[in-house]
Amino acid sequence: MECTSENSLISKFECPVCFKYMIPPIRLCLSGHSYCSSCFDKLKNCALCRANKSPYRCIVLEQIHATLSFPCKYYDQGCVFRGKGDVMTDHQEYCDFSPALCPLRFNECEWRGSKSEILDHCRNLHPDNLFFENKQKLKVTNFYNIMNRNYFILFYIFDTVFRCTWDLIEDSGTVRFAVYVLNKPSKLRQYSFKITVFDTQTNMEVITLMGPCYYLKDDNLKFLGKKYLSSNHDYFKGFCDNNGDLNYAITIINNIRNERKEQEDFDDLFQ
Ligand SMILES: [Zn+2]
Ligand SMILES: [Zn+2]
Ligand SMILES: [Zn+2]
Ligand SMILES: [Zn+2]
Repeated sequence: MECTSENSLISKFECPVCFKYMIPPIRLCLSGHSYCSSCFDKLKNCALCRANKSPYRCIVLEQIHATLSFPCKYYDQGCVFRGKGDVMTDHQEYCDFSPALCPLRFNECEWRGSKSEILDHCRNLHPDNLFFENKQKLKVTNFYNIMNRNYFILFYIFDTVFRCTWDLIEDSGTVRFAVYVLNKPSKLRQYSFKITVFDTQTNMEVITLMGPCYYLKDDNLKFLGKKYLSSNHDYFKGFCDNNGDLNYAITIINNIRNERKEQEDFDDLFQ
């Protein structure tokens, strides 16, 4: 199909209420005017002809929708991507122009911007919480009282943003720790982390734990389900220095993938 006729077809998908492109399910009034489902749900009657709402969907439009390349919904923000169906759904979720909050917002940052601006924002406003080496010595200050505190740091390595989190579940005295990938999931790129705790008296490695870096699609979540390492708070406290700080190191590892197990492992990284 030629681009101009595709464009004119695409214009037929503009919802008459919100002017955004309708995506399935596409709804109808009894005279046949079509609406996106979110506008349709808010209408009492058809906004164009006052007819009642139809219980049916516009199946033919939905079928045509699947064959057309639509512009990304962040077109007005500057995105030039075009794509069909699932490809577009997938793109829009991680579009550079989509709105984003600060990945360190639990540390009381109220910044809002777009995905593409996250790194610059963090470089400028959170330089102490952003690291660029895949091996980093760190400390959790006042580890005895990490409860109700937000401990979040970011790594930017392998062109990927990682977020590390510590916290404490008070009732059970369980310390939780995780490193998540905030970027778009990739089958070819899988990461794991190693965390090493040092005894400051002897400078010996006393605890070493390893785990996979799961993909965190919703970075509003501090932890993903049960996808974290956990241990006993008292046990860790035994290795704090005189100030009550826990000295540790994080290593993030870029794994070489075994192709046969690829899909299996990839699926496992979500649920
Ligand atoms: Zn609409
Ligand atoms: Zn109508
Ligand atoms: Zn886009
Ligand atoms: Zn911020």
